[in-house]
Amino acid sequence: MEVVKAVVFKHNADVKPLLDTFNQMVNECMTYASKNNISSPMKLERSLYDHFKQKYGFATHYCISACRVACGIIRSWKRLVKKGRTDHNKPPTFKASAIRLQKELMRFKGDKIVVTVKPYSWIEIPLIIGSYQKRFIEEWKKGELKIGEITLLNNRAVVAFKREVEEKEPNGYASVDINLMSLDILETKNELKYRKIDLKKLYGIRVHYFEKRRKIQALSKYKPETSRRLMEKYSERERRRVNDILHKITTAIVREFVENGVSPILEKLKGLSYNATRNKHAKRKNRKVSSLPYRKIQSFIEYKMAWYGYKTYYIPAKGTSKTCPRCGRSSKTNGQVYECRYCGYRADRHFVAGINILGMWGVGFIPKVLNELIEREGLSRGDKIL
Ligand SMILES: [Zn+2]
Repeated sequence: MEVVKAVVFKHNADVKPLLDTFNQMVNECMTYASKNNISSPMKLERSLYDHFKQKYGFATHYCISACRVACGIIRSWKRLVKKGRTDHNKPPTFKASAIRLQKELMRFKGDKIVVTVKPYSWIEIPLIIGSYQKRFIEEWKKGELKIGEITLLNNRAVVAFKREVEEKEPNGYASVDINLMSLDILETKNELKYRKIDLKKLYGIRVHYFEKRRKIQALSKYKPETSRRLMEKYSERERRRVNDILHKITTAIVREFVENGVSPILEKLKGLSYNATRNKHAKRKNRKVSSLPYRKIQSFIEYKMAWYGYKTYYIPAKGTSKTCPRCGRSSKTNGQVYECRYCGYRADRHFVAGINILGMWGVGFIPKVLNELIEREGLSRGDKIL
């Protein structure tokens, strides 16, 4: 199977004029498309091609790309209007300063990217290469990696490296249960292994930036512009710090899974990220901090595993924290310890979720093995947790 990894390179080249012009093209496309009720990129391109060629003189692919981007934005905007999530009187605009460069528009040279702007006119973008980026370039030079699309931004370029890997058959599975304060992993290979990865630091960061945002919010009455600018700055900083931690954690998990040859089993959280911020009850709960990035954690694990040829599997998130692993009946849990009201089974609630996730995937356990693990790790007591 082919796997893709996006690697970020910094650069200092002045690409602003190029990005600004492209931005203008996309916005022009959107205005034209809305006015003439066009939704197909092909049709839009046929209508605008001559005009664009004359006005900008850019290589043909920019025109194609602008039409595609414009139609994509309009399409997703219409979808949101239909669902009642956005105002149909406020048509979208293209604010991003970015271009996705297909291979017709650029050449990757290892230390730089050469971008075609107009026919027979290029700009060179020298890349700043750190040790992380160097690894990919070396593999690319050896022919092990290919270049996919490149996204060009004001001071960075995101290069998609592609590789052909053989799909590996896992010799075990591991459930990854994502919780507010911990990631809980239950691994089955030869023996059952359970561990918690602490997410308190991540939670702390989210709380910290929540406080920051609240203070900035208070400023918005008197200094709206400053408030907006600060909000953007701190949101970006939060995003970066959160991503940083998530990358470190998921890289470590994936390294271990790959070493042991196990595939992760995750819960499919359909629609959760939206509901978690919108539904009234959750909104009150989440007002404290930005919501936990479930999807991000899952996608990091998934694409990092895929890079080594391992698939990630999903099971529906249904009753995994309520079902008793011993008798199969459903009990509600308060606090950190799960206790079955029918058979009295007692264990850490996240451990129970892990067993249920693996169970839904078809991995069964002998009760004796479970009991031994619970005993060994002290998982039936409340004291070990948090
Ligand atoms: Zn039970």
